[in-house]
Amino acid sequence: MSAPRNVVIIGSGPAGLTAALYTARANLSPLVIEGLEAGGQLMITTAVENFPGFTEGVMGPDLMASMRAQAARFGAEMVQGNVSEVDLSARPFRITTGDGVVLARTVIVATGASAKLLGLPSERKLMGHGVSTCATCDGFFFRGKPIAVVGGGDSAVEEATFLTRFATHVTLVHRRDTLRASKIMQDKAFANPKISFEWDSEVLSIEDGGSGAVTGMHLRNLRTGEEKTLPVDGVFVAIGHTPNTSLFAGQLAMDESGYLITSNGAKTNVPGVFACGDVQDHIYRQAITAAGSGCMAALDAERFLAH
Ligand code: NAP
Repeated sequence: MSAPRNVVIIGSGPAGLTAALYTARANLSPLVIEGLEAGGQLMITTAVENFPGFTEGVMGPDLMASMRAQAARFGAEMVQGNVSEVDLSARPFRITTGDGVVLARTVIVATGASAKLLGLPSERKLMGHGVSTCATCDGFFFRGKPIAVVGGGDSAVEEATFLTRFATHVTLVHRRDTLRASKIMQDKAFANPKISFEWDSEVLSIEDGGSGAVTGMHLRNLRTGEEKTLPVDGVFVAIGHTPNTSLFAGQLAMDESGYLITSNGAKTNVPGVFACGDVQDHIYRQAITAAGSGCMAALDAERFLAH
């Protein structure tokens, strides 16, 4: 087994790669274990128009390729592959991948969160072509168009309300006849003339009419069995996110939804283990906030090693 690394970063989205950039520039020779979905959620996004510095926007995969190249330029080492096990009970920490065990003086967890999806083949096919899981990222593309939001929680209702800024009309499609969202958010949505509701409805498929971009969605009413097509140009799936934290169960403190708990910067409950990005943030979930927290984790790791 080789000597312990100063810093091992698990995950390669904006948080992980920003942590890699900062720790590389601090001469800590970080190792980034990229994970199965290298680049993270931005790899399934099209144009990103809210990442500062890109006047005309930037394609998600291009942004991630630039972040990766920038971190590599300063000496961050990237390895493909997935972590199957971590042992954070003693230092150096032990991280097991398909290629063996890596020892680490510090670990930065940047494994992200995954948007829950409906699981329809048409949803996967049209992701980035009218199907989105991020209203803040993609709402602007639906200016002057009718869209639908799927879900009944705070995310769905908040996104539906936000999207009325752009869309001509927003239909909220929910599988039950009552919303899970907080009362105040519900009241706001009910009072909004641009929002209507398809209750008790299941999405059977998202349609493109052969065009390669969303043209509508096929719904079934779960009470009556009646089916219908709702003509929309965009579908926002807002049925929740799952933080990718199963590796750390029983080792790192998590909230009731499984998000890692950080305090005092990017510190977890285990000294020497830091967390950044969506794995510890269910509120903001933006590329720029993930990158910012990646910087914090890197500076915290650097200080930890210095002491
Ligand atoms: P959530 O509360 O878990 O709600 C998920 C919604 O999606 C539920 O209405 C659920 O339906 C529906 N759903 C789940 N799986 C589905 C499926 N396979 N097909 C169709 N519908 C499905 O998730 P969230 O809205 O993302 O919120 C997560 C947490 O963040 C919550 O604690 C929420 O309060 C918080 N949050 C807060 C704010 C805010 O305060 N501004 C904003 C966003 C989120 P059922 O209702 O039938 O289960």
